[in-house]
Parts: sequence; structure tokens; C-alpha cells
Amino acid sequence: MEVILLLPPDRAGDDDAQLLRRLAATDQPHEACPDANDLAAWVERRLSRRASRTIEGHLADCPPCREVVTPLAAAVSAPTSRLLTRTVLLAAALLLGFGALYLSTLTRPGSLSDRVQIAAAELASAHPQEMAGFELLTGADLHQSPQTLRGGCTLVTPSNTSLEPRPSFAWQGDGTVQKWTVVLRTVAGEELWRETTDRPSLSYPPGKPDLTSGERYLWEIRGAGATGEVRGGKLFAVASAQNVAATARMRSAVDAHRDATAARITLVHWLLRRDLVDAAVEELGRIVGPEQDWYLLEELRGAAARRQGVPEAERDPKSGK
Ligand SMILES: [Zn+2]
Repeated sequence: MEVILLLPPDRAGDDDAQLLRRLAATDQPHEACPDANDLAAWVERRLSRRASRTIEGHLADCPPCREVVTPLAAAVSAPTSRLLTRTVLLAAALLLGFGALYLSTLTRPGSLSDRVQIAAAELASAHPQEMAGFELLTGADLHQSPQTLRGGCTLVTPSNTSLEPRPSFAWQGDGTVQKWTVVLRTVAGEELWRETTDRPSLSYPPGKPDLTSGERYLWEIRGAGATGEVRGGKLFAVASAQNVAATARMRSAVDAHRDATAARITLVHWLLRRDLVDAAVEELGRIVGPEQDWYLLEELRGAAARRQGVPEAERDPKSGK
């Protein structure tokens, strides 16, 4: 994509450029902002994983840049976007980029993030026990990258803390593996279950006893791929009975809430705070956000997928995988 930069390169004596930069410096840390072209590339998922991470980290702390990507993303995902040429999109990005200073000075009452704050406060007062000490995740919380064990495949669920005493196992391979072996162990290494399958998922079998609440387990998978053995392992815990009960109460509170979307987003934060990542992903799947709130939901989806250890490229439906 070709870019025409509206802001001239740094040249001494260029009064317009200096004025623009001075104006920008009075708002957010605007000099450090990615340019509109990079933001457009991020929305279209054309950046490397590393570059995407940098942009996401920036977006978490920069309302003006969020104001730029949100309408762009809506345009990209709208069915009419096929009618829009990339030039039109880019022109919009550039205009919005420089209009962002102006836009950011306008408040947006009733935006989804405002509604989430309200829903969180309401849930906290209605459920003081479950919500004790709860805070919505910050930008930094959302963008942390937890360590994962990797080896040619990605273990998706169960992950972190599972609500299920009989979890479903799901993973992603490189596409060349014909047969997978799944092994479930105690953290001490004792083998509890082993099964072979040709599909990238398995249910915990009916004949086996429930996993123990509050215990931690290790699950491993291995398979013969085209370029050698593919394997991976992941620790997870089964949620305590108390955690399971609190989650059930929170779920019914959310269903009964007058702003169910905002309340469900609060619940996603709450689940992520408790490491109930698989449950958070499930709740996210139930939220159909209005287009203008694309960024907020995408940020949460990214945070949840990173906690599961799923690389961006593999959760991205547009990447062609
Ligand atoms: Zn910015």
C-alpha cells in the first residue's frame, strides 16, 4: 500500500511541521504514536506478530489512536467494505489520524467502556462477596504475554484454571500429523490417562474419575509430523468448588443485568482475574459487540488468547489457516 504522508519529514525551518508537532505534544504522548499507515496495517492484520504487539501496547494507553482504529476496523469488517477501495480507507485513516486530537477532546457518554465501568460498579454492589477486591484489567494487564510451553503445536484447552472437572482437550498442530497421543498426568508425573486420536480434540472419557477440585495437572500431546516429532505440554488447575459456585452466581447476575453486554464484559475481566481463561473465552463468544466497540472486544479476545498460549496468527480467521 502506498502512503502519502501529510506531515512533512523533520526539516529545520519548516514552520507548519513544527506547529503541528507542538500541537500534538500538548495532548497524549502523541509524538510516539504509530503513523496512520501502521494503524491501518494493524487493523488489516498485515503486521508481524511483534509489530502488532507494539501497536496493541500503544493502543492500550492512547485514546486518540483508539479513536483512529475503531472506525477503520468497522469499515474493514462491514460488508460494504468491498465497495471501498484501499485508497479511501487510507485517506480516512490519515484524516482521522490528524483529527484524533480533536476527537479525543470530545467525551463519548454511553460508550461501551463507560457502560462496562457502570456495570462493574453495579455488580460490585449487588455481589460484594464475589466482587470483593475486583478491578477491571488495565491496558498493561491485557497486554502481558504469559510464558507457554511450545513445541510445534499449541495446546488450547484446558488452560490456566478450568471450571470443568471433566475438561475437553483441544489443540492445534501443523496440519501434517495423522495421529495424536494425549497424556494426562499429575504434577508429580504420574500418568492418569492416555489416548490416541486422529482429530485435534478429545473429551475426557466417561470411564475415568472426575479430576480433583483445586488440583493441578499436566497434559501433553505428541504426534509424528512431516518434519519430525511434534509435542507440547501444559499445566492447568481444576477450579475450587468455591470458584465454580462464585462463577455460577456471577453468570446468573450477568444474565439478569439490564445491560447484559457491559455486564458480560465485566465478567470476562473477572474470569481473567481468576485465571478462568477458558471460561472467559466462552463468554467472549457470546458477546456480539456493536461495530464501534470493535477495539475493546478485540483487545479482550487477544488477551484471552495470549493467556491460552494461542499465537495471534492461529486465532486469526483472516490469516487463511
Ligand atoms: Zn497514539
